[in-house]
Amino acid sequence: MADIKASSSESSPHKPTAANRIAPGGKTTVAGQLTPANLSAGGHPQVAGTGPGRRPATPVSPGRPVTPRGTSRPFARPSLAEIISEQERIFIKRQPESGRLASQATAVLAGGVTSSWQISRPQPVWLSHGQGSKLYDVDGNEYVDLHGGYGVSLAGHAHPAIVAAVEHQVARGTHFAQPTSDAIAVATELSSRFGLPQWRFANSGTEATMDAVHLMRAATERDLIIKVEGCYHGHHDSVQVSVYPEPEEMGAAERPASAPASTGIPTALTDLTIIVGFNDLAMVDRVLREYPGQIAGMILEPIMMNAGIILPEPGYLAGLKELLHSHGALPTFDEVKTGLTAGPAGAVGVTGVTPDIICLAKAIGGGISVAAVGGTAEVMRYVTDGTYEMVGTFNGNPLAMAAAKAMLYEVATPQAYQRIEQLRAQAVAGAEEAIAEHGLAARVVSIGAKGCIVFTDEPVRDFRSFLAIDGSYSHAHWLFQHNGGVFLPPWGKAEQWLISVQHDTGDIDRFNGNVARFAATIASVGKVLDSAG
Ligand code: PLP
Repeated sequence: MADIKASSSESSPHKPTAANRIAPGGKTTVAGQLTPANLSAGGHPQVAGTGPGRRPATPVSPGRPVTPRGTSRPFARPSLAEIISEQERIFIKRQPESGRLASQATAVLAGGVTSSWQISRPQPVWLSHGQGSKLYDVDGNEYVDLHGGYGVSLAGHAHPAIVAAVEHQVARGTHFAQPTSDAIAVATELSSRFGLPQWRFANSGTEATMDAVHLMRAATERDLIIKVEGCYHGHHDSVQVSVYPEPEEMGAAERPASAPASTGIPTALTDLTIIVGFNDLAMVDRVLREYPGQIAGMILEPIMMNAGIILPEPGYLAGLKELLHSHGALPTFDEVKTGLTAGPAGAVGVTGVTPDIICLAKAIGGGISVAAVGGTAEVMRYVTDGTYEMVGTFNGNPLAMAAAKAMLYEVATPQAYQRIEQLRAQAVAGAEEAIAEHGLAARVVSIGAKGCIVFTDEPVRDFRSFLAIDGSYSHAHWLFQHNGGVFLPPWGKAEQWLISVQHDTGDIDRFNGNVARFAATIASVGKVLDSAG
């Protein structure tokens, strides 16, 4: 099939009408938006830095409560800031042991965590264990896990097939730095799902996209790459550019700047990465013409998943591939997030567009670190003949290969995707009902095992329109879910839920109950806060 198609005559899948549900099989839904702008009351504090630019959230300044004329406190409507404060108070009260560990950790862990994105407001959550669809924190609280370890846990926790595969391999040795036969099985299945014949393995999404960028450059003998503003591809230099730029460093919309995504990235390197907007073929065309014979290729998330979920418009991906090829440049799809979660064959399966290079990581290892880079025979020839040495001590590690094989052959099965599809539909229907009932300016976007509530009634087709969304609502929603026993990813505005093969309808009921409570609270005027704690 060609790019994702809207089932109506509407041109943009983002236009928030029920008619914009995307066929087939209800794979993708963009619906549920209803107006009364009761989310747009003034004085809303911004949750600064709640995106994949991955700066720790800064505290919300207490906004002025919106008090309807003629009423006096305490019957006045609580402001969003007050709702957030109340939920944060409940959050902290439920997690004294997490609080204790968080402060103990600051002595030996920089910033008190093991990755900066584990910082959440009001405090990081320290976990004890996971089982099936559930997570348990060190205070004994149970959560339905829709965080999914930032998109890894499609298998859920301690899935019997993954446990058996890992146990078997652990007892036979966990590292040889020589290939095992499982690597052939994994590559064979990835070839058949993603339509690219040759594969290599790595250990993280960052390594996969780094190798992809090297490969594009090695194969074309060109230095420049094109990257989409707002796409996150890991933390190596070439792609740490305009990931979550501040408004003052973004540059003009028609000519986005190449802004370093963090300190420590030299301008000499950011200058090699040319930035374009998502869903903007004309801008790519312009860049290819401005740098004739200099662009090695373009890396993008085919479905943006570090800015909520932003779908490619019909024809965008196919058009990109054609355009890049016409200039001798290579398209790379970063399917680190979408691979296996958007569907059994990721965004490639959903859109029908196969690029020259695909990067996979996260879910493919069933919870063990593994990444893969697939390429056309033409591109992988440069690896085969040694032009590009694709190396790594842990590449194809036997433990990782055993887990990935179990994931592909025993966990991510057609039956599992059918079940996930039913749960996706249940989650979307429940959330849309609550949004409609309370007239919130919000909508649900979902695809496969992934989904999110986007708190705006404006179309979101690229990073700049995403940036305009007030992150406070996502944070408030995250807190309601958390205090109500559902763990969503903490960077609410940027991230999505992940439904695993082990979730059930009861889990989704809990999620939907929290959405309903959240929506009622946000929409209520002069009502007592409905706290889940
Ligand atoms: N690519 C995408 C689309 C991602 O979302 C991420 C991580 O969130 C990466 C690459 C980097 O993966 P990793 O954190 O495993 O290095």
